[in-house]
Amino acid sequence: MAKYKVTLDRDKCIGTASCVAVAPKFWELQDDGKIMLLESKLIEETNQWELIIETEQDLLENKEAEGVCPVDAIIVEKLED
Ligand code: SF4
Repeated sequence: MAKYKVTLDRDKCIGTASCVAVAPKFWELQDDGKIMLLESKLIEETNQWELIIETEQDLLENKEAEGVCPVDAIIVEKLED
């Protein structure tokens, strides 16, 4: 499978936890009321959190999270074939 990158713009998050409901393996609400993408890394240049995923199941779950986020804080994009 191609690799995909999941990106979280934490500044946009309004804490609805919709992503947690559909993909709890990846998304966890934190004490400050915003989400965290588990095991992701902070990219300092963009101030966004990124995680590379490589399985169909992980892609499905994160595409669903992307789809339910009301503020477009989650982006899933293909990296390579
Ligand atoms: S669905 Fe969007 S706004 Fe809601 S907690 Fe997840 S990232 Fe934040």
